[in-house]
Amino acid sequence: MSDDADNTGAGNAALTRRWQGVMMDNFGTPRLPLVKGQGTRVRDAEGNEYLDFVGGIAVNSLGHAHPAVVRAVSEQVASLGHVSNLFIAEPTVRLAERLLELAGRPGRVYFSNSGAEANEAAFKIGRLTGRRHMVSATGGFHGRTMGALALTGQPAKQRPFQPLPGDVSHVPYGDVEALRAAVTPHTALVMLEPLQGENGVVVPPPGYLRAAREITAATGTLLVLDEIQTGIGRTGRWFAAQAEGVEADVVTLAKGLGGGLPIGATLAFGAAAELLTPGAHGSTFSGNPVVCAAALAVLDTIERADILDHVTRAGERLRRGLKTLGHPLVREVRGAGLLLGVVLEGDLAARVQQAAQDRGVLVNAVTPDVIRLAPPLIVSDHEVDTFLDCFRAALSETLGEALTAA
Ligand SMILES: *Cc1c(COP(=O)(O)O)cnc(C)c1O
Repeated sequence: MSDDADNTGAGNAALTRRWQGVMMDNFGTPRLPLVKGQGTRVRDAEGNEYLDFVGGIAVNSLGHAHPAVVRAVSEQVASLGHVSNLFIAEPTVRLAERLLELAGRPGRVYFSNSGAEANEAAFKIGRLTGRRHMVSATGGFHGRTMGALALTGQPAKQRPFQPLPGDVSHVPYGDVEALRAAVTPHTALVMLEPLQGENGVVVPPPGYLRAAREITAATGTLLVLDEIQTGIGRTGRWFAAQAEGVEADVVTLAKGLGGGLPIGATLAFGAAAELLTPGAHGSTFSGNPVVCAAALAVLDTIERADILDHVTRAGERLRRGLKTLGHPLVREVRGAGLLLGVVLEGDLAARVQQAAQDRGVLVNAVTPDVIRLAPPLIVSDHEVDTFLDCFRAALSETLGEALTAA
C-alpha cells in the first residue's frame, strides 16, 4: 500500500517531499500528511488510523466531519456563499446574537477570519480609547500579525520583526502585584488568556482574572480576555472566565468556534462596543455566511447534546487517568476541561509525541517539556481509556530510551 501510494506521489513520504518543494518553511516540515477524518479519528496518506488528541489545535470541537457542520456548510454554500460587508446575511446576524446570548449581556460583535485578526480588532479598539499603553503577559500568545505579535509575550517570536506597534508592557503571568504596578490611567487595555495555551497550558492562581478585572476597572482600562483557545466549551463552560464570574470589556474567540472553518470573533461590551465606527476597520470575508453557519451548527450541537457537561466529565476522567498512571515521567497534569497539559520530567515532549504517534495517537508537544491534549469535545469515555493505554506505553518507551542513553 505504502509503495503504491508513494509511486503516485500521494504516500506519506512523497506528500511530504511535495510539501517541502513548494511550501514556505515557516512551520518547518509537518510530521504527517492526513487525508481523512471522522469523529475523533484521522487517517494518514497510507491508511494508518490515529486517535486525534490534537484536534487541529483545539479547533475541531465536534471532531471531524460532524454531520451538523457538514449539513450547515453544504446548505449555506448552496444558497448564499458570500455577500461582502456591503450586504447583510442572516446567519452572520444570528451568530452574533447567539454569542452575546451565551455571554449573557448585550454588546456588539466584529467577525474576522482568525484568532490574530480577532486580537487585531481588540488592539484597534484599544487605540480608539485615545490611550496608547497596553499590558499583556509574558509567555502569552495572541497571534502572529504585527499588532497581535506586539501583545504576544514571547521575545523569540517578536525579535525578527521589531519594531512592533507600541506601547506594550509585558508582566509575569499570574502575578497580581506586577499587573497592578503596570496598569495606569494611561493604559488602554490589558490582554490576558484565562489560561496560557501555547505557553504549555499554564494555569494562573485562583482569583487572578478577578483581580485583573478590579485593577482595570479602577483605571478605566479595558480588560480583554483572549478566549481564542479556551472559549466555546473547551474548558467545560462557554467561556473559561465564567468559572471566576469575570466579565471582560472585550472577549476574543476563534479556534473552536467554527468547528474547523476559519473564523474569529471580537465581542465587546459597554463603551468598548461603540468604539469602532464606520470605516474604522474591516475585512472582505468578515461574517462570511458559510463560516457563520458552521459556527451556529457548533453552538447548537454543543447546547443540544449537553456537551459542556460532557467536557467537564471527560476532562476529569482524562485528568484522573493521567494521574492514576503514576508514571515517573509525569511531573504534573494541569489545565481545565479538555485542555490539559502533561508536564514531563525533562525536555522529552517531542519524543513522547513521536512514540504516541507510533502507537496511533496524535498529541502535541506544545513546549519542550509539555504535551498538550485538546481532543474533540465529543471524545468518548472509551476513547479516553484507549488514549490512556497508548499514552502510558509511549511514556514508558520514552523513559526506557532516556535511561538507555544516560
Ligand atoms: C491560536 C491562538 C491565537 C492566534 O490564532 P490564529 O488563528 O492562529 O491567528 C491567539 N490567541 C490564542 C490564545 C491562541 O491560542
